[in-house]
Formats: sequence, C-alpha cells, structure tokens
Amino acid sequence: MKILIQKFGGTSVSTSKRRELVIEKVKKAKSLGYFPVVVVSAMGRKGDHYATDTLLSLVDENFISNNPQAGDLLMSCGETISTAVMCYDFNKAGIKAMPLTGGQAGIITDSNYGNANLLRVEKENIMDLIHNGIVPIVAGFQGKDCNGYITTLGRGGSDVSAAILGVALNAEEIEIYTDVDGIMTADPRIVSDASLLSEISYNEVFQFAEQGAKVIHPRAVEIAMKSNIPLVIKNTLNDTDGTVISCEHQVPNDRIITGITHMANRVQVKISSLENSGNQYYADILEILADNNISIDLINVFPDSKIFTIDARDLNKFIDIMNRQNIKYSYIENCSKIALIGSRMRGVPGVMAKILKVLEKNNISVHQTADSHNTIWCLIDSSNTEKAINALHKEFHLGI
Ligand code: ADP
Ligand code: MG
Repeated sequence: MKILIQKFGGTSVSTSKRRELVIEKVKKAKSLGYFPVVVVSAMGRKGDHYATDTLLSLVDENFISNNPQAGDLLMSCGETISTAVMCYDFNKAGIKAMPLTGGQAGIITDSNYGNANLLRVEKENIMDLIHNGIVPIVAGFQGKDCNGYITTLGRGGSDVSAAILGVALNAEEIEIYTDVDGIMTADPRIVSDASLLSEISYNEVFQFAEQGAKVIHPRAVEIAMKSNIPLVIKNTLNDTDGTVISCEHQVPNDRIITGITHMANRVQVKISSLENSGNQYYADILEILADNNISIDLINVFPDSKIFTIDARDLNKFIDIMNRQNIKYSYIENCSKIALIGSRMRGVPGVMAKILKVLEKNNISVHQTADSHNTIWCLIDSSNTEKAINALHKEFHLGI
C-alpha cells in the first residue's frame, strides 16, 4: 500500500479556488495509485479570519502563559476548521473524505502545551479510513495528551504533523505544498532572482529551517531524515517539480554556498568582566540564563567579556535577571543574524573574507561573526538585512 502524505499550508487552503487546486493534487496522487493522507494548516495568514495569529489576538499573551491548556485549544481551532471545510470541498468533488483532529488521527503527545512532544501514533483509526477508500484530512499542528486534552506542536507545526504521520504510516513520500516553488537560494520575498534548489540534503535544509527560512519546520526535516522518508517541497499553485530533500551523497552539487537566510529580532549582549569584578554571579551567567529558559547563541567568551545574542522577546526577562544579580551589561537591539549555508564550505579558504569584504563594500557594519562546518553567520543591523542578503546572493552567484 503506497501511502503519500500531502500537507497543504495556510495559503494553499485559504480560498475555495486554492482548495480546488489542492483537490487536483490529491486526485493526481490517487490516479498514480497512492493512498493520500492530507494534512492541513489553518486557512490563510495573519489577519485572515481563521488564521492562528487571528485566533491568538483574541486573548493576551499573559492569558496563554497562565492557561497553556486553553491556549492550545484556542490555537488548534484554525486547523480543525480547515479540515471540515476541506472535507466539504472533497465531498463536492466526489471524493470520500473524513476530517480528523490530530488526536483522532492518533497523534499522542506529552502535556507540554504550546510545544508538545510526540509520544506515539495510534494509527488504527487512520488506517481503517484508508482501507475503506476514505481520504483522511488531518488537522496539522495538533495532538492530544494522555488525558485527552488538545496539545499543539509549536508554530509551523503542521509540517511536523506531516512528518510524524509519514514515519508512522511508512509513507512513500511526504509532500509539503506551499506558495513558492520549493526551497530557494534565498527568500524570494527578499531576493527577486532567488533560484530554486531542485535537490538539497536533509542536513542543509535543516540548517536553512533552523536559521530562519520558514518554508519548512526543522523538526519535520529531522523526523523525516531519521526514517529516511523522502521529503518534497512543492507549489500548490503550479505543477513544477519542487525541491527534493534527500541524503547528502545523493545531491550532486559543487556550490560552496547553497543559500542564505536570516533571523531577525536578535539582541547582541555584552557583559564585561571588569565592570562586574567582584560579582559572584558573573562566572555563572550563561548557566543562570539557561536556568531561566533564555536561549542564547553566537556565544564568544573573552578574558575581558562575554558576548552573545538573545531573542528580542527575551530582553525584558534578561534585564530583570541581570538587575536581580546586579550584573552590568550593554546591548544592541534590532540585529539580524544572516546565515550562509553550504555543506561544502568546510575547509575552503577565504569564504569568510569574501563575505566580510562584500558587506564592507556595501557599508554594512558587522557586529559579530561565527562559523561551523556548514554555516557562516554575520550579525548586522536589521535595517541592512535586505541589502546584505541581496549583495551576498549576487557575490556567490546564487541567482537565476
Ligand atoms: P505555509 O503556510 O505554506 O506553511 P510558510 O509561510 O510557512 O508557508 O512558508 C513559505 C514561505 O517561506 C514563502 O512564502 C517564502 O516567503 C518563505 N521562505 C523563506 N525562506 C525561503 C527559502 N529559502 N525558499 C523558499 N521560501 C522561503
Ligand atoms: Mg509553514
């Protein structure tokens, strides 16, 4: 039995015209002998009636942090509505379908509301439907915990649902349908001549996703990679082949940089040892932040200072903690972390030098850099993000 997971993102299910295109994709899969399992996101994006952000705007953030269970129930509604509306369209098109919440699809998680972890998939219900020729339409982004309460899997979590079901049902492939042709060398909203990457390795795309390219959720990549299930990113709006994600050795490629992405809303923090001499907490500062759930990156520790970045959302919490321990600090707000990704940059001399030269030529000052075997990061002012990405994209000949 050839099972195919077909996940459709928010813009793909936002209007009845678009949902007709979804049905075409499902019909095509059926005609090729596949048994499709459809996973849907909430309809539309921020501002649209049933989009997750719109639902969230009905209450304030404090309510969600104090009532995480209610928060998940609210956040999950968009996907639930989507399944029923999609089912209506399937029925009109003469396809037998059944809408399912994540829990009804057997996705059982822990009770870590807002970012729940998978415990197991109970696949009997979904398999019964498939055996009876009924297409399951599963609400993405949700599961249920052992007490039956609805949980959510973290923002962008419909991709995770697709990957979870792909592995549990041993699917031939997981198709992620969105509003662009696939994974591109940069966000096409930022770089107009960004080119499509027809193939990319799990590792590179994971890094892309982890570093800010929201086209796919990093956890979805990780889950598919572990079970070696092919993952394909495609456009709902056309019939192009999309991006096939597979193991590194299967991807023919001689480029040093595969693509560029970024993460906005970073704050660079500097804590000097001199200003804090005699403060007993200085030595443990990174540990104290970790204990308070503040994640940090681009960490440089020098004899006279510690420099790192945090997310802007954590800034107030960070300031509170520093004041409580009487630690002196300084920070630069509104930074963006540009990431250049390429698994073949390892050992190639001069890449960082080239990047810094391009940025300098464009009058973009760099607050900090870091590199790993497959990524180079540069922290710059957010106001320069588009200029920097476009200049680097051009320098490394990534355009069409
Ligand atoms: P969906 O609602 O279908 O899940 P998302 O908004 O989550 O869609 O992801 C698709 C968006 O990701 C695109 O519209 C695009 O602007 C953005 N994006 C960011 N980086 C990239 C990239 N490197 N390649 C393709 N799309 C990207
Ligand atoms: Mg998405």
